[in-house]
Amino acid sequence: MPVGTNATVKALHPDDLVEVGASIILANTYHLYLRPGHERIAGIGGLHRFMSWDRPILTDSGGFQVVSLGDLRVVDDDGATFRSHIDGSVHRFTPETSMAVQEALGSDIAVAFDQPVVPSSPRAIVAEATERTHRWAERCVAAHSRSDQALFGIVQGGLDPELRAASVAFIAGLPVDGLCIGGLAGDETPAQREAVLDAAIPLLTDDPRPRYLMGLGSPTDLLEAVQRGIDLFDSVLPARVARNGQLWVPGGRINIRNARYQDDPGPVQDGCPCLACRRFSRAYLAHLFRAKELLAYRLATCHNLTFTLDFMARIRSALRSGTFPAMYPELRLHAGPVSGGEVTVQSA
Ligand SMILES: [Zn+2]
Repeated sequence: MPVGTNATVKALHPDDLVEVGASIILANTYHLYLRPGHERIAGIGGLHRFMSWDRPILTDSGGFQVVSLGDLRVVDDDGATFRSHIDGSVHRFTPETSMAVQEALGSDIAVAFDQPVVPSSPRAIVAEATERTHRWAERCVAAHSRSDQALFGIVQGGLDPELRAASVAFIAGLPVDGLCIGGLAGDETPAQREAVLDAAIPLLTDDPRPRYLMGLGSPTDLLEAVQRGIDLFDSVLPARVARNGQLWVPGGRINIRNARYQDDPGPVQDGCPCLACRRFSRAYLAHLFRAKELLAYRLATCHNLTFTLDFMARIRSALRSGTFPAMYPELRLHAGPVSGGEVTVQSA
């Protein structure tokens, strides 16, 4: 899922999203609650009409943003009180508030309100937040009333395999439509994340509901998580690095700001069907970035989202045809270095 924080995927028109192959996007409950306000969006006819997007939308619960505010929030058993990052005004979110806001937005999939913690937090902190997340999940199930909107629960438990297993058992025992794996894609190493998934996902072998790992975005991280049984992801990463001139290509990434691309007549990636590669040279993109022209952000974002969603389509195709294990080495090469890898390659 590309991320449309403020009811827009930054720099893109909804037609661009269709073209890059987005079949569902994520919108942020916290941001839309604060601005323009969920009631205002409901008054205009709901989030789909408001942003002119007729494919599915998943809204997150607001928990991640609220709890990430640090000194700007206080969490108690009933909910979280926080200060707006926009104007400092004081607000309160409870599981019931989160459900009401998401129902007003009218997303296709709502997500239960949770208390995520930084993966490396002490065990006692993780345990307390995980138990609170369970109580809040029950309240979300009770409060959720739209039969035309799915509800996903969130598994927490940090990096501790026992807490993770207990959280999987609890959340999977609720009548929710999908299972989010929260509290990862933070400060953990890939090996720690993979160990958590190896502890949690096998417990869901006979569970047909989708499994969604929240916040993961680099191609290699996606591949490793799919291999461990994850179905769905969201991330701002492909779009964010694109706006910095980092363009993903098979085997790694190029920084289009580098001087050597100023005279390069080829596309960013040979054979890429995106808006940028179909019509423009690396030299033109290098110029747009240097001149800080707005078209740079649209073209770069279209390319990275096309690369990411095409990569996921390749994975799905390999899974469907039963060739995923055989295709894995090739997919791994295509994905490039692990997250944070600064290796720069020239693809052609
Ligand atoms: Zn492209």
